[in-house]
Amino acid sequence: MRQRRCNGTIEICNSIDVREMIRHRMFDHPTGTTWRQCALRWPWISEIKLNQASLELWLRSGHVAVVPLVWTKCGFIGSCLCLVCPCCRRHTRKLYEIGGACRCRVCGDLRYAMHRRSVAAGRVLTAQRRRLKIGGKGALRSLDSPDAFPPKPRNMWNRTYERARRRDQRTTRKLDWRYWRDPDWTILVPR
Ligand SMILES: [Zn+2]
Repeated sequence: MRQRRCNGTIEICNSIDVREMIRHRMFDHPTGTTWRQCALRWPWISEIKLNQASLELWLRSGHVAVVPLVWTKCGFIGSCLCLVCPCCRRHTRKLYEIGGACRCRVCGDLRYAMHRRSVAAGRVLTAQRRRLKIGGKGALRSLDSPDAFPPKPRNMWNRTYERARRRDQRTTRKLDWRYWRDPDWTILVPR
């Protein structure tokens, strides 16, 4: 079987996540609202317009992507807001910039960096991703060392922090320190 061409890994791609937009209460705004200063968060998008049941993304590449919004049934929560991929109509929470266009990870043929590595290296990446989430840029130092877990950020619950630390220990317990030099954590940091 011929190997399919892979467009890269998810971690290095620009993306937009509907959950993040919900957190920023973007959908509470009236229809027709346009955001022009979104370059700080989404550098690949110059303008976002909220339509009745879709989003218009004006990409820096010159493309305009019309992304329909749908409510999709999901688990126990009931239904959640999803984006519809402009290319394959798949329902997804996250769209990526691939080749100047806006696509989902399936039709854009993106893989997680983790899937392209060995199990051990994948574990290191998992641990590093978790540490980045907790310590932010300040955690970068701890990414090279198996026993350095970032300190608790002030605004984080003790319980959440402890849980993350236990997970970190579980992930890293059986790892040889040599693996820590292998995967390149810079793929986890957005450009
Ligand atoms: Zn798609």
